[in-house]
Amino acid sequence: MARSDYPTAQPFLPDDKNLDTLATAAEGCQGCPLYQDATQVVFGSGPPDAEIMLVGEQPGAQEDQIGEPFVGPAGRLLDQALKEGGLNRDELYITNAVKHFKFEVSDGRRSGIKPSVGEIKACHPWLESEIEQVQPEIVVAMGAVAARSLTGKPLAIGEVLGSWLQTSEGRSLIVTYHPSAVLRSPAEVDQDRIFEALVRDLDRAREAVLSARGGRRPQA
Ligand code: SF4
Repeated sequence: MARSDYPTAQPFLPDDKNLDTLATAAEGCQGCPLYQDATQVVFGSGPPDAEIMLVGEQPGAQEDQIGEPFVGPAGRLLDQALKEGGLNRDELYITNAVKHFKFEVSDGRRSGIKPSVGEIKACHPWLESEIEQVQPEIVVAMGAVAARSLTGKPLAIGEVLGSWLQTSEGRSLIVTYHPSAVLRSPAEVDQDRIFEALVRDLDRAREAVLSARGGRRPQA
């Protein structure tokens, strides 16, 4: 399908926006073809006044079944990294750049496939609306898809890892690994390195919030 065939989620957004109306409206989104094969939409979750918003790529197979973000294997790793980074999951707003599970089936098993740029762009109005509602002090992009959606630009994770950037709406953004990068790494030494970088960047987000409360902005 040509990129021009992807419309956008924009027409499916409610007029009266809050996190509840957005989550309900997203259930009916047909802004790109991904709604067709997924079980359900997986909207963000967390306190409406969270100071930190974590953004992943897309729901995985378990999230698709349960309807909540980061409740599968990557979510369990994220929980471990949050604990080591001194963050409480209950205080964070956690979402994905793309709200429906994109997958392929092999040997009867569904495996996630990276969303296309057209799908990331089509789904961006939901993420933008979540940011508008939550107004987080710090946004954490976990992985290249999240970074692409939040900045509107293609970024090489290796070049921006742990750096302070800005979202396309001008919010403080730090880019780190997606927890599933740990799971995908065959070598234990790489798993440890990626996990440590994730913990370090989550800790930097926590420190930045503390600085912002004191009136100081994150340093690049
Ligand atoms: S992935 Fe996003 S834009 Fe595509 S149908 Fe789902 S909610 Fe809509």
